[in-house]
Amino acid sequence: AAGVEFRNVTRRYNTVAAVDDVSFTIEAGTLVTLLGPSGCGKTTTLRMIAGLEMATSGTILIGGKDVTRLPATDRNVTMVFQSYALFPHMTVADNVAYGLVVSGVRKRDAAAKAAEGLELVGLGGYGQRLPSELSGGQQQRVAVARALVLEPEVLLFDEPLSNLDAKLRRKMRDDIRELQQKLGLTSVYVTHDQEEALAVSDRIIVMNKSVIAQSGTPDELYRRP
Ligand code: ADP
Ligand code: ADP
Repeated sequence: AAGVEFRNVTRRYNTVAAVDDVSFTIEAGTLVTLLGPSGCGKTTTLRMIAGLEMATSGTILIGGKDVTRLPATDRNVTMVFQSYALFPHMTVADNVAYGLVVSGVRKRDAAAKAAEGLELVGLGGYGQRLPSELSGGQQQRVAVARALVLEPEVLLFDEPLSNLDAKLRRKMRDDIRELQQKLGLTSVYVTHDQEEALAVSDRIIVMNKSVIAQSGTPDELYRRP
């Protein structure tokens, strides 16, 4: 796992700054949430960590290395989306193994890793099913397993639970928290839901109108008397 640092990062679309002179540090092995209302710049920030969006100015470091101009394909960063984007015609195991096979891992090794990944997310027995045979929550777990097997330096979550009902959201966020602590991943998690942020995060960065409004641990931000 590697830490992430933003130094005075700005991303402009025409004249409008979606992210405006933002600086923060995410320690390796922690889960940090970007929290804030729609349009405040969370997704743009996440996409710049992934390399899917380039900074207009400023510096982005991953594991101490300057990645500001590095494209997504040259970064070891993986994103879990709110739509699971599983291949419907492939088994769950093949979905999880796919990224490994594409990156040149031998089929047998990829299959073994996929089985481990599915075990980690509690879907050990589900490898031979099709995605359509799984519930929404289970499909989201498959998406997490698919990201985990790539052993990313940084794992990104873009509103991962917003397609799930309230009960399942609570269960999934607890599971993500548990997995995070067990594996010591560096994770960046985007949500507009304060309760979700409090439940999953080591630290929360609150964004508002393209800048950081405040940041701290859940306790520091919301629970202090
Ligand atoms: P979110 O649900 O995170 O707020 P949006 O639905 O606003 O995301 O945006 C979805 C996609 O459209 C993103 O890739 C984003 O970069 C792009 N987008 C958002 N706002 C605009 C805009 N004003 N003009 C063009 N593209 C936009
Ligand atoms: P959030 O994820 O917090 O909803 P975004 O990062 O998606 O916010 O967007 C921040 C601002 O940047 C919004 O005003 C959005 O419309 C604008 N924006 C995002 N992507 C684009 C784009 N591709 N082109 C133009 N404007 C964009």
